[in-house]
Amino acid sequence: MAETREKLLQVKNLKKYFKVSRKETLKAVDNITFDVYKGETFGLVGESGCGKSTTGRTIIRLYEPTEGKVLFDGEEIGGKLSAKARKNLSRHMQMIFQDPYASLNPRMMVKDIIAEGLDIHHLVTSNEERMDHVYHLLETVGLNREHANRYPHEFSGGQRQRIGIARALAVDPDFIIADEPISALDVSIQAQVVNLLQELQEKRGLTFLFIAHDLSMVKHISNRVGVMYLGNMAELASSDELYDHPLHPYTQALLSAIPVADPKIERTRERIILQGDVPSPIDPPSGCRFRTRCPFAMDICAQVRPKWHEVKEGHWVACHLHDEGLNK
Ligand code: SF4
Repeated sequence: MAETREKLLQVKNLKKYFKVSRKETLKAVDNITFDVYKGETFGLVGESGCGKSTTGRTIIRLYEPTEGKVLFDGEEIGGKLSAKARKNLSRHMQMIFQDPYASLNPRMMVKDIIAEGLDIHHLVTSNEERMDHVYHLLETVGLNREHANRYPHEFSGGQRQRIGIARALAVDPDFIIADEPISALDVSIQAQVVNLLQELQEKRGLTFLFIAHDLSMVKHISNRVGVMYLGNMAELASSDELYDHPLHPYTQALLSAIPVADPKIERTRERIILQGDVPSPIDPPSGCRFRTRCPFAMDICAQVRPKWHEVKEGHWVACHLHDEGLNK
């Protein structure tokens, strides 16, 4: 059955390169394509340095894309943007950052941090209205109105992340990019923040791009998951499909590293241990970028970059083991 859900975000052949010296270019994101549907949580996973955060930052235009298209609600936002278009984009698309310590201005009171978006977009007309919004947002994220006049250093990591979430919600966005929003938090606090994000999604109909390196957590919260490796998309499928039938050897290796709760299964299950480190994105391997660590690498893998294609409804992969039926 063809996919009928509405696409909120379309990323087409997106590239983001950084010039690191006269001769060297870091290909952080190198030709990736995927869509995010309205109301879903799309998990983007991979090891550190795979390009997932750069993807998020390029979509929201903290970085200019090198090449490719990004469409938001059908409108192209990938090219050169005017200041007005950029401002308009920030009304609909917000980001929650990994490090709640670094992402909040230490010299600003919480009320001003949260109200920044309201001020920029002139969404309130009086101080009273502004404070009403701030109080409501604080309560929405599980803080209280007394917190409005304090500074970020007076809060715990989990509370600061809640402030970051309130700030993102202030302009009532449709789409939130959450860049490893819980990885800097204590394990005991992580579930609370994830639950809050899920609650907000239900109540406000938000769409999330959830960036993380922890596959087990991403499964819990995502409708669909994309797996990145060294600037490329390796595989994409619904959470259940990806976890039950992973096709790409990299996905299989990542999944095999997740511990299983049942001690009997845990003792006997097979683990795929990847050899070596992730190669440098400045000089990535030819053909398939995963080939230097892939237990199934063949001759063709060094010569031809595998095509990104849909092997069955909604399940995409880039691997020569699954080339069958592909128009080469
Ligand atoms: Fe492994 Fe080749 Fe598939 Fe790459 S294309 S993941 S090297 S089998």
